[in-house]
Amino acid sequence: MPKSLPISIVIPVYNEEENIAYLYDELKKVLELHFHDFEVIFSNDGSKDQTFKKIKALHLQDSRVKGLTFSRNFGHQAALYAGLSKATGEVVVSMDGDMQHPPAFIPKLYESYKEGFDIVNTRRIDADETGLIKRLTSQWYYKLINYLSDVPIEPAAADFRLMSLQAVKSLNEMPERHRFTRGLVGWMGYKQTILDYKAQKRHAGSTKYTFIKMLSFGLDGIVSFSVKPLRIAFYTGFIVSIGALIYALFAIIKHINGATVAGWTSILVSVLFLGGVTLLCLGVIGEYIARIFNEVRRRPMFFISEEIGLNEKQAN
Ligand code: UDP
Ligand code: MG
Repeated sequence: MPKSLPISIVIPVYNEEENIAYLYDELKKVLELHFHDFEVIFSNDGSKDQTFKKIKALHLQDSRVKGLTFSRNFGHQAALYAGLSKATGEVVVSMDGDMQHPPAFIPKLYESYKEGFDIVNTRRIDADETGLIKRLTSQWYYKLINYLSDVPIEPAAADFRLMSLQAVKSLNEMPERHRFTRGLVGWMGYKQTILDYKAQKRHAGSTKYTFIKMLSFGLDGIVSFSVKPLRIAFYTGFIVSIGALIYALFAIIKHINGATVAGWTSILVSVLFLGGVTLLCLGVIGEYIARIFNEVRRRPMFFISEEIGLNEKQAN
């Protein structure tokens, strides 16, 4: 009987032409040493450069390299999901395509799996290479998200993790379009652990996460795991109304006593303040409605325009 495939590596890539070959070499060194077989699935997120060509060339050279490509850029989380849904190994490791997630760490993840964990998460220990701004914004963001969210999310968590095929299947069963994988994985249960790895420098190229992508990813993390912002909007409205009521009483008493309140400033301030609070609350509600809208349309999360080395088509 042929032994089953022990490990799949899933790598979402967007404009990473300079990293593909190098990453493959490094992966191959590690994987051949520790596993009798493996597959590396590159999930090309509609790259505009030669990334997919590079993946095809690697496949011709080594059929253990497989790939799929999107019809356009659908985002890192969609590419991750597409790759995961194609994986067939007993365990599946997801990692970035820029060498920031060190291939040499994969055997450590596998050791934890052998110790009995279904999901082995990782936490980045910041090397000095990580920019101060990125470190601080990420720290504050995770503080905020953990305050707001109902699912604890580890700061400095990365989408570098090992999952058993069973856990991957569960993850893929979750139907939402706005995917914040870190949160979804936390929510899933299973036996989980977390290992620390030292962040590496990007091998080549620059970050593919633009500020807008980052912001949208951040909002997904908060809005898909918590309704607290709605509650905060409600409480703010409530407190402001109580304040307004007290102020009204104060103004009436003053009026009765004959000293009419000289209004300008207080009216202006309260109108502006209330206007701001109202708009903010509408914005919060709008975020949720937009998400409901996106979910009920049930559009596919991505379109795959070409696959290489992946024979069975699976529904997304
Ligand atoms: N990525 C992607 N689609 C995107 C943006 C990024 O597939 O729209 C991939 C990217 O190629 C990399 C991983 O997601 O493999 C993480 O992105 P990046 O390294 O740019 O993020 P950073 O490490 O700077 O947060
Ligand atoms: Mg990176």
